[in-house]
Amino acid sequence: MFRRVPGFVAAVALTAACQTSAPPAAPPAAATAPPVFPAGRLVDLSHTYDRSTVFWPTADTFRLETVADGVTPGGYYYAANNFFSSEHGGTHLDAPVHFAQGAQSVEQIPLDRLVGAAYVVDVTDRATANADHQVTVEDLARTEAAQGPIPRDAIVLLRTGFSTRWPDAARYLGTALRGEPGARALHFPGLHPDAAAWLVANRTIKAIGIDTASIDFGQSTAFESHRTLYAKNIPAFENLTGLEALPLTGAWIVALPMKIGGGSGAPLRAMAIVP
Ligand SMILES: [Zn+2]
Repeated sequence: MFRRVPGFVAAVALTAACQTSAPPAAPPAAATAPPVFPAGRLVDLSHTYDRSTVFWPTADTFRLETVADGVTPGGYYYAANNFFSSEHGGTHLDAPVHFAQGAQSVEQIPLDRLVGAAYVVDVTDRATANADHQVTVEDLARTEAAQGPIPRDAIVLLRTGFSTRWPDAARYLGTALRGEPGARALHFPGLHPDAAAWLVANRTIKAIGIDTASIDFGQSTAFESHRTLYAKNIPAFENLTGLEALPLTGAWIVALPMKIGGGSGAPLRAMAIVP
């Protein structure tokens, strides 16, 4: 018995069409703007990775090793490098597994968590006055009173103004020392553990970011905010820049890390779209 196979018939028709008509000279113009991606000004929220990139005092720093840079025997120019980096340096993502056993590693974080509406908490004044400032529940309450509650599924960005100190480690981290002495001498702002606990209990956020080296402040030794957030699979973006160019609400964030399988963190290219 002969049965018609629609796909087969369509393929034959398509082959015939290809033989008789040339492709159009230019693709047709889109009738409407793309429906999902908002139009707006793009703001780069990532620092460049190079030899000046600030890393945690105990972490291996970034290295770029030249493989090729010149004209080949074939007469064309060719450049290639190897790069080496620890996960947690420069602008990077902390995967939840960084401080929560069994939580998501980098490649397991759903893309949907890394794209969302920005909600900026500006503590620049307090952080400028005190490098050890921890964003408090009161800071969050004051911000919500001024600009409305943190919406469901927001990406919360803590703006301390410290990115303007990059890449001067002495000013950005509070110390230029390396190794354990450096780790003990860190002074930069972060999120208070009580505020982290309040956020996970009272608001539903996709992710959180900060323009300092860590979501816990520099003098933290227990890393409680990391542990509280990551236990709920809320990742963090650290060493962000450009937050001063964002409105307090209304921007969109796209923060895509290198997809390292099993990674506890990864270099991050983050940007904002400001409609
Ligand atoms: Zn990290």
